[in-house]
Amino acid sequence: MKPLPSHLTGGHFLLTETDPSLVFTPEDLSTEERQIMDSAEKFMDKEVFTRLEALEHQEPGLAVKLFKQIGELGLHALEVPEEYGGLGLGKIASTGVAQQLSRLGGFGVTCGAHTGIGSMPTTYFGTAAQKQKYLPRLATGELMAAYCLSETGSGSDALGMKTKATLSADGKHYLLNGTKMWITNAGWADVFTVFAKVDGEHVTAFLVERTFPGVSFGKEEHKLGIKTSSTRRVILENAEVPVENVIGGVGKGAYIAFNILNFGRYSLGAGAVGGSADMLRTATKYAMERHQFGRPLASFGLIQQKLGDMAARIFAVDSAAYRTAANIDAVMATGETMDLTNPPFPRGMEEMAVECSIIKVTCSEALYYVTDEALQIHGGYGFTEEFTPARASRDARINRIFEGTNEINRLFITSTLLRRAQKGRFPIPTAPEKFVPAATDAEPLQKVESVLRGAKQLSLLLTGIAVKKFGDKFAEQQEVVAAISDMVMEIYLDESALLRTRKALSKGRSAGTMTDLTLALMNDSVSRLEQRAATVLAACTDGEELQRSLELSRRLLTWTPLNLIEVRRRIAARLCDVGNYPALVGG
Ligand SMILES: Cc1cc2nc3c(=O)[nH]c(=O)nc-3n(C[C@H](O)[C@H](O)[C@H](O)COP(=O)(O)OP(=O)(O)OC[C@H]3O[C@@H](n4cnc5c(N)ncnc54)[C@H](O)[C@@H]3O)c2cc1C
Repeated sequence: MKPLPSHLTGGHFLLTETDPSLVFTPEDLSTEERQIMDSAEKFMDKEVFTRLEALEHQEPGLAVKLFKQIGELGLHALEVPEEYGGLGLGKIASTGVAQQLSRLGGFGVTCGAHTGIGSMPTTYFGTAAQKQKYLPRLATGELMAAYCLSETGSGSDALGMKTKATLSADGKHYLLNGTKMWITNAGWADVFTVFAKVDGEHVTAFLVERTFPGVSFGKEEHKLGIKTSSTRRVILENAEVPVENVIGGVGKGAYIAFNILNFGRYSLGAGAVGGSADMLRTATKYAMERHQFGRPLASFGLIQQKLGDMAARIFAVDSAAYRTAANIDAVMATGETMDLTNPPFPRGMEEMAVECSIIKVTCSEALYYVTDEALQIHGGYGFTEEFTPARASRDARINRIFEGTNEINRLFITSTLLRRAQKGRFPIPTAPEKFVPAATDAEPLQKVESVLRGAKQLSLLLTGIAVKKFGDKFAEQQEVVAAISDMVMEIYLDESALLRTRKALSKGRSAGTMTDLTLALMNDSVSRLEQRAATVLAACTDGEELQRSLELSRRLLTWTPLNLIEVRRRIAARLCDVGNYPALVGG
């Protein structure tokens, strides 16, 4: 594989400092990208939210009708190559749309599963004939797609699947037998990417049409949330799938399943940012309108604290999502491939796997946190269906579970970095480099830069210490692995916020609120980083060595606490002035 520039190499944000000019931020969106996003926003406000009640009760045909209308607007075609009737755009364009569609969780899931995990196996791994047959109709929404990996007995352990594929006697068909569980869009989809083991052994992906003999469906699952979406079992009883419908070759299903999930995780996370921003807008409006003790809720310090923290989390995940989107697009644009399937698949799907998991975990957790705080700000009304946070809380919950649970993604982040280190793709230092903390009178953003430099060094040193201690049993120390992943995620988010702020300042924008948001994030991050580092060190060392290591950790994380009360109050006051998150940062 050819070396890529550091900022386009997965995980390399831990090894180097990134020049802000190399980072894409929402402020860099083109007029065309904004127009695409605006059309999704208008559609949601005019066509979807006005029919919320009917959608939540799955009025027959309604979700599919709206899904097709989205197709008429071209919004399912964004990432489909132009030669197959798509717009050939990338993640930057699709991020804004995902953020808008995911404002209604269930509808976002329907569209996201179609354009993402449903269609992408064909887009990236399909033969020319498969692409020709399916992609133009998937791009318009004439066909709806689904992705069938999970089974009753295998969710996280996806490769433990029992579904089997056997070649028919005449060699023309595979006969699939098994049941796929919790399949999004199963009630309505026309085309399913189904994973099954050929001869009970070789995991393989198949394009299965709804009308193929032997395909049937369970009843709608009675879910906690995302009630607008369809989730059913897909039952395969000697389902006849033509041999030409194998995707990527027999035995290549695991590569396909997991690399598609990289993109699925990115899109899920990016979409969740839109839901979070919506909840912050709803909470801000309510906090200004509702009076208690003769004053608006928004005038109370504890409500301002919530609004300030919610905004800071959204700023972080939004910045990280667009940074990742642009990096994926840039690696895809190199045209480099991984020769593991036939046809080979783009390196851009794999390179940013760690960042995709970071986006999935942090954005889904931010959404859950922001939605819960919005509900809290609504008090008793928040607990009723009259107001949005009740439905939004139920909808938000699933994001921590599907596309790899957040536990599985936490394990994946550190273990992927380690695997890359073992292959020589990612150096892990064994001794601390020279480190000089920022001077006490340095300007605030320089202090953020300094503590992030230290945190990066610390996370890599801790990985080295833990691997030395546990050797090939490292993966079994899940709490240690997850603590390191938590640090890696904190660093990526804080740095993305910092780089966005730096870039805005370098372009002469007044970035006072961005600076406040970055400082609020970093201030809280430092204590979480310290705590995670202590967890790892106490698991790996003891006695004097532990004391020495803790001292080093404190030095690398040198930070003087800020008066965060003032910072959050400023953020909340501005939020109340402008009313919503994009406007808070000038969007
Ligand atoms: C509404 C909905 C829609 C879905 N849509 C789809 C779809 O379209 N296509 C599809 O293929 N699947 C879909 N799924 C399935 C989803 O991806 C799985 O539910 C998910 O991967 C978790 O698998 P599981 O439910 O079997 O949980 P399990 O794997 O049994 O996990 C249960 C708990 O144990 C934890 N755990 C599991 N293994 C480990 C481990 N090694 N170490 C530590 N902790 C562990 C998990 O994090 C989780 O907290 C959907 C599910 C839902 C609910």
